[in-house]
Amino acid sequence: MIDIKTHIRKNILSLKPYASARDEFSGTEGIFLDANENPFGNLNRYPDPLQSELKKKISRLKAIPEQAIFLGNGSDEAIDLCFRIFCEPGEHKALLFTPTYGMYEVAAAIHNTEVIKVPLTDDFQIDLEKVKPVLNDKQLKLIFICSPNNPTGNHMREQDIDFILQNFNGIVILDEAYIDFSKRQSYLQKLSEFNNLIVIQTFSKAWGMAGARVGMAFAHEQIIGSMNKVKSPYNISALSQAAIRSRISDLTSFESGLHAVLAERELLSMRLKEVRSVKKVHPSDSNFILIEVEDADRVYQQLIDSKIVVRNRSNSIKNCLRITVGTPEENAELLNVFNQSM
Ligand SMILES: *Cc1c(COP(=O)(O)O)cnc(C)c1O
Repeated sequence: MIDIKTHIRKNILSLKPYASARDEFSGTEGIFLDANENPFGNLNRYPDPLQSELKKKISRLKAIPEQAIFLGNGSDEAIDLCFRIFCEPGEHKALLFTPTYGMYEVAAAIHNTEVIKVPLTDDFQIDLEKVKPVLNDKQLKLIFICSPNNPTGNHMREQDIDFILQNFNGIVILDEAYIDFSKRQSYLQKLSEFNNLIVIQTFSKAWGMAGARVGMAFAHEQIIGSMNKVKSPYNISALSQAAIRSRISDLTSFESGLHAVLAERELLSMRLKEVRSVKKVHPSDSNFILIEVEDADRVYQQLIDSKIVVRNRSNSIKNCLRITVGTPEENAELLNVFNQSM
């Protein structure tokens, strides 16, 4: 357990957040002449700043109390808030295990926070021996662990994540954007054990709601309280809140969508292994597959010529492409190009 307060920037601790018009009155019935809204229309009212109706549903779904849930304009907002809450610009540092999701580094750079990169091992796992000396760096505030990791697709070993949580006097952000595609259990259940843990999840991937821009962070309520103080007051639109509420009220549709993607992932992996020019198909706990080819730039261009867009990751992992699992038709098209021209 860490002393959370000593890690929160002083200006954030003392920050008096913007008081929105409706903070003092919580009811939906009434005559609202407080927020300079237009009295006519459907979307004329500001949305609930703390998304309480949606949070109630998420709380039930995840078995996490509402006070331990933050909702953001995508999980990218939660990532950004971690820097704003914990890192003094030009002073503190963040640690990343590379290659990983690009937004951590961008958010750090915007916030003028130095990044320490510890490369993953050859089998894309955390190199604990290289991490241990860095854990004592007094300027290090944040450690980002992406599991399952983007773009490698695998999850990190549980004992390595636990070691970092136990031995780091700072904040560990565990990005579980792809957890629903994995057989591994979420770290949500370990929140009560580690108060320095922030688990990030999203509605953009398994839930199929990327267009709504809603992400989740789960953490100790003191951390969530700071996130709510710093976020912009109406960070999730009424349309998006309603869309997610309706999406999570139909779990049957979620489950069947998820199973369809998982079945396609297995099929696509199998078929890619049969392609002569594909040298390696990495195992995936996510909804994408990392493959190694002989010449990634050439394969990438050939796919583009057929109007198929994948991610060329060869600048971080030699000759590797990251392929998102598509519909059966899309995957068949992709395989066609592979089998015909390569
Ligand atoms: C896609 C992705 C996200 C999701 O970001 P949103 O802002 O919620 O859409 C977060 N983390 C990782 C690693 C991702 O790949």
